[in-house]
Amino acid sequence: MKEKETRGFQSEVKQLLNLMINSLYSNKEIFLRELISNASDAADKLRFRALEQPDLYEGNGELRVRILFDKDKRTITLIDNGIGMQRNEVIDNLGTIAKSGTKAFLNSMSTDNVKDNQLIGQFGVGFYSAFIVAEKVIVSTRAAGTTYDQGVYWESTGEGDYTIASINRPERGTEITLYLRKGEEEFLNELRIKNIISKYSDHISLPIEMLTNINQDTKNKADNNEDKKDVVIGNWETINQANALWTRNKSDISNEEYKNFYRHISHNVNEPLIWSHNRIEGKQDYTCLLYIPADAPWGIWNRDYKYGLKLYVKRVLIMDDAEYFLPNYLRFIKGIIDSNDLPLNISREILQNSRITQSLKSAIIKRILSMIEKLAKNKEKYNSFWKNFGIVIKEGPAEDPSNISIIAKLLRFASTYCNSDQQTVSLDEYISRMLEKQDKIYYISADSYAAAKSSPHIELLQKKGIEVLLLFDRIDGWMMNYLTEFNGKLFQLVSKADLNLDNISQENVAENKEIEKKAWEPFINRVQSYLGNRIKEVRLTNRLTDTPAIVTIESNDMTTQMAKLIVAAGHMKPEIKYIFEINPEHKLVKLAANINDNKIFNEWVELLFDQALFIECGTLEDPNKFVRRINNLLTNITTTT
Ligand code: ADP
Ligand code: MG
Repeated sequence: MKEKETRGFQSEVKQLLNLMINSLYSNKEIFLRELISNASDAADKLRFRALEQPDLYEGNGELRVRILFDKDKRTITLIDNGIGMQRNEVIDNLGTIAKSGTKAFLNSMSTDNVKDNQLIGQFGVGFYSAFIVAEKVIVSTRAAGTTYDQGVYWESTGEGDYTIASINRPERGTEITLYLRKGEEEFLNELRIKNIISKYSDHISLPIEMLTNINQDTKNKADNNEDKKDVVIGNWETINQANALWTRNKSDISNEEYKNFYRHISHNVNEPLIWSHNRIEGKQDYTCLLYIPADAPWGIWNRDYKYGLKLYVKRVLIMDDAEYFLPNYLRFIKGIIDSNDLPLNISREILQNSRITQSLKSAIIKRILSMIEKLAKNKEKYNSFWKNFGIVIKEGPAEDPSNISIIAKLLRFASTYCNSDQQTVSLDEYISRMLEKQDKIYYISADSYAAAKSSPHIELLQKKGIEVLLLFDRIDGWMMNYLTEFNGKLFQLVSKADLNLDNISQENVAENKEIEKKAWEPFINRVQSYLGNRIKEVRLTNRLTDTPAIVTIESNDMTTQMAKLIVAAGHMKPEIKYIFEINPEHKLVKLAANINDNKIFNEWVELLFDQALFIECGTLEDPNKFVRRINNLLTNITTTT
């Protein structure tokens, strides 16, 4: 060994190792899945690089991973002939964690939480899981295309540091030896290992080989022989299916295999919600296997969330997260696409701009949408889907106008019909309940379910028995800019001034009586001249019952929710000129109309206007002033009575 040195792990690695060793007791066997998965990645990488540089194969292109035990030494060894690693790569890959968000992730975990088990699986801790069962791990590796003396040795007990050195290593690829902890003898059993592999790794296309028919005599001799590598002590037998899962016939693949493949590509220990596997021939020739996760993938709300399908071309892995095949609003989808049309040596730039990519993308979007439609038939599953991904799907109408009618069918809303903040009502359902003569889909958009549900804007609709969709997700106001109609029915925001419900009513509801406009004219003028250009117009309204006044907007003006989104995105607050609508039936309004003193009258108008703004916006520009006004008024009442 040359250039030997001891280095400390990155602090996140230490934290992770500590967590793993202490908290993953129930699922120790996953270490094997992780190590096999790495060997499979290493083979994929070599195959990809060798497309341009065939001599990387060093004359041996038959890739595989082998598993060996030594019961006496209590070791398990995995030997792959994949891409291997150079010294700096070993330092980076086995001494640090490169993934973004690791710190936040680790901080969110505790050592005694059962859920952490799943979290950690979702995070894909990979190589370090070896230390769940091993008290010492030795790695010996040589990168493809380097000379025999550029091998690297790595050793650690998983505590605080590791040792690294240069060695001679004739074989290309990586050899990992685990020295098992006391109590982990079960993994020295051939049958046990085979079971774990068939449970987690059968779908891996890399052949996984184990020695069978071991001749004990030869083995004993070999063990005492320095140059034992060439001694045949048994036969290597491939113990997995060793062909890419998606290339097999659907009917030959069990649900368990599909689920395990999902776990492999998504680094998620949970089951997927649903999947769809298709081979398409003809104008395009490709296979895709697409999964909807049962839970939101880690980091889906982060800016640097890596999404996309694994892209294979003719069975060779070309790219891990090829995002060109998925729109943002479907970024939670996991899966693979294997194209026979794309060239093997495709670059990211060419891929991004290729016509084939575009047509594959639109075909895949269609498939995913129809998979979601199918899922919607199962109410319970769809609810859980919607809870996780509804907000993401809501980006669809803006991003993908060509599929807007399908996306609209997938949307779910809370509604006055259900009396619950759960978003479960589809637009089809809403339409099926529309009243006679109702030709619009009414909705309100507010900051919370409670604010939407108790909004005075819907008082009259409630009275008339008209269902109103209650929108309160931040993105809703924005989405509704793009969603103008569904099945020929226009959407109508109920806080718009042009709301006209005159002809619609359930039979048993009495029409509101006509307002005596003339009598109220002086009052309206007085309010108008006081508020001046702070408002667009003052009007009387018959749409309110328990509320003295509201503000509404003209149908082409910007909505309050939209203005809020603009502010949240860091822009200047756009000014909205509201229409001030006053309910002449309300006692407070009648009282105000009788006030002669202009100063007091104006105070009342301010109060009514502030109330209306408060209801509409959820906040006030100057809440202190508002509170002071109310307090003044209250004091006056109590001192005069
Ligand atoms: P991940 O596989 O998610 O990247 P791991 O912790 O499993 O995370 O592995 C870390 C890195 O170590 C891998 O990305 C890879 O670069 C390297 N690595 C691990 N095992 C091998 C192997 N058998 N051959 C080559 N490189 C490997
Ligand atoms: Mg890995």
